[in-house]
Amino acid sequence: MWKYRTGLESLPTYSVEEKEWDVKLDANESPVNLPPLVQERVINRLSFLPFNRYPEMGMLGLREQIAQSFNIAIDCVTIGSGSSEILLALCHAFGGKDNCIVYPTPSFSMYGIYIKMADSTPIPVPLNADYSVDRDKIVKAAQEFKASIVMLCNPNNPTGNVMSLVDVEYILSQVECLVAVDEAYYEFYGESAVGLLPKYKNLIVTRTFSKAYGLASARVGYMLAGADITTAIGKVLMPYHVNALSLAAAEVVYQMRDEFAASIQQSIDERNRLADALKLLPGLIVYPSEANFLLIKTALASTLGAYLVENNIGIREFTSPDLANCLRISIGSPVENDKLLKAVKDCLAKG
Ligand code: PMP
Repeated sequence: MWKYRTGLESLPTYSVEEKEWDVKLDANESPVNLPPLVQERVINRLSFLPFNRYPEMGMLGLREQIAQSFNIAIDCVTIGSGSSEILLALCHAFGGKDNCIVYPTPSFSMYGIYIKMADSTPIPVPLNADYSVDRDKIVKAAQEFKASIVMLCNPNNPTGNVMSLVDVEYILSQVECLVAVDEAYYEFYGESAVGLLPKYKNLIVTRTFSKAYGLASARVGYMLAGADITTAIGKVLMPYHVNALSLAAAEVVYQMRDEFAASIQQSIDERNRLADALKLLPGLIVYPSEANFLLIKTALASTLGAYLVENNIGIREFTSPDLANCLRISIGSPVENDKLLKAVKDCLAKG
């Protein structure tokens, strides 16, 4: 038998059902491709790319733009191959076998996996029954286990709800460790912990181009944090870990980010419309969401999940007990949302 790394065999291999869905509402992606003008500029930019050269090591073009927009120093910005790479790298840099990492559950399912991939000890802290964060429980866990990082997800995936900045600041001020706030869905919400960066040296904020900016294909995310944290994470990231094509695309997208206002607003409006319509259906709980997806709960979740699959509509189902009877539906285009709504109604009408 191969000599696996200790603990690796018990780690799940991430898999998603790859299907050509007619309506794809399973991955919280943008329902629309890049705005045509942005797409044109990305393609134009790529046509000048020196494909034979490694990417520019410092990723200065994109880092400078991001630093400028937040009015922070460039050495406070790290780019990753998706925010996923950054979250994993944080676990590698600040985890390891001597360190515990605290995170809420249910939340982004990869936190626990990244923590284990980095050979660190996961300390999941259950959310309240309504999926709100119990800030004192988080603080207590961080203190008790002398955690190296507290991870928070705001808005939280898959529940869609948010923590107040007051609670985020409370946690920052009460713990001695790093606090990483994953703001993958920030653009659908609008409140950020970024303003707390000058005050709290233990704060890390991560964002992504994969959701509101419709660039999931390119895998680009970024981290804002103190220069010491940038240095530490740099030790566990490979040279040229973000490819030049993705960097070029992200630079254009970031420069033109105002062009995305309409699609972001549409997702917010559609989220609210869909939530209002689903709330009218009997036996269906719709959790409040500030993201580009909705979490619903119904005793008929498995029947409904199967019915949607049969009708070629991809949504996210869950197996963990803390999400029993829940389904997560990404917000699609108005037409896609209408198809989803009709299918849910048809299924529930059948009983
Ligand atoms: N954080 C959260 C909360 C997410 O939901 C996701 C993707 N589903 C990510 C991070 C990772 O996104 P990416 O790697 O595409 O930036």
